[in-house]
Amino acid sequence: MTEIADLLSHAADGGRISPAEALLLYTDAPLHGLGEAADTVRRRRYPDNIATYIIDRNINYTNVCVTACKFCAFYRAPGHAEGWTHPDEEILRRCGEAIDLGATQIMLQGGHSPELGIEWYERIFAAIKRDYPSLVLHSLGASEVVHISRTSGLDYAEVISRLKAAGLDSFAGAGAEILVKRPRTAIAPLKEDGETWLSVMETAHGLGLESTATFMMGTGETNAERIEHLRMVRDVQDRTGGFRSFIPWTYQAENNHLKGRTQATSLEYLRMIAVARLFFDNVNHLQGSWLTTGKDIGQLTLHFGADDLGSVMLEENVVSSAGARHRSNRTELIDLIRSSGRIPAQRDTLYNHLTVHHDPALDPVDDRVHSHFSSTVSSTSLRLLPVSPAAASAAS
Ligand code: SF4
Repeated sequence: MTEIADLLSHAADGGRISPAEALLLYTDAPLHGLGEAADTVRRRRYPDNIATYIIDRNINYTNVCVTACKFCAFYRAPGHAEGWTHPDEEILRRCGEAIDLGATQIMLQGGHSPELGIEWYERIFAAIKRDYPSLVLHSLGASEVVHISRTSGLDYAEVISRLKAAGLDSFAGAGAEILVKRPRTAIAPLKEDGETWLSVMETAHGLGLESTATFMMGTGETNAERIEHLRMVRDVQDRTGGFRSFIPWTYQAENNHLKGRTQATSLEYLRMIAVARLFFDNVNHLQGSWLTTGKDIGQLTLHFGADDLGSVMLEENVVSSAGARHRSNRTELIDLIRSSGRIPAQRDTLYNHLTVHHDPALDPVDDRVHSHFSSTVSSTSLRLLPVSPAAASAAS
């Protein structure tokens, strides 16, 4: 126990811990001591005691995908009758609706449709920036770069440069899932490998596009593989400094081919949050998830090292398709943060504080700012664009 106590003290003081030490803390450290050490790091990084949230909208532009990840309940294979791609005007309409609700950021996330080449992304990014120049495009990710590279015959750097020139502000960290080869191959055999995901992100960081990094835990990986995921991200961060935040969340088991596999427990999730705060001495922000683990656990992450509770999620379709039922709203997120003994603040994509909610009497009262799932926010205007089977087979 002395070794663990010494390690916790070393990490709480800002010392770097090795992957082996992180694994020991993850599996054996007392929960309260682990949380306390992580919270010490958080308090030193953010002595203003603020915890943040953001208002953004996930716009899932297509559910057509050739990558067929086994954990995914959202996608439809090319040619499937339930496949859809939003026309430009629908995406723009959703952006306008998001602005009206106070969103500062759009996350465009979608399937790997063989019909969407670089020109499609350039067109929609440019249109969004033309109509809504204040919206930050924190969108796509390394997996989309790999896919566009295939559909358009460009190398990764060319894809990234063209997306940036068209208006992309930063990459979301989606698609990381678990980067370690064995579990990644088991759940996403057609997705690029973890080394490629990281190398695309490293290239993007070098070209001036920062990103976040995510981790989907609970699909059957070992504890050592969980820590190895962290190591892989930290090594790249040592070289680039381009990951703004680390965002772990838990696999949702409904409506997909992996259902029945073990999910991460709430305690495992909290331990991961704490170990991530101690391990990532080179990543500024750590986001707790209320969407996949529930609001109580989301709130607890603020005592285990997290400084951010993520988004109100004006729209989310992917994780909710796999069973995430939790919904929230701006008032509730502010209350969750405040009742944790922290000062709530709305942030932007760069973690600048837009509004600090010091006085409850001045809290915003717009009950339209709440989560919508499965396109309920705008399903009436959904128009479907079929994808031709010929194009699909050519790309797959
Ligand atoms: S997770 Fe993304 S890449 Fe994988 S099947 Fe679903 S939509 Fe496609």
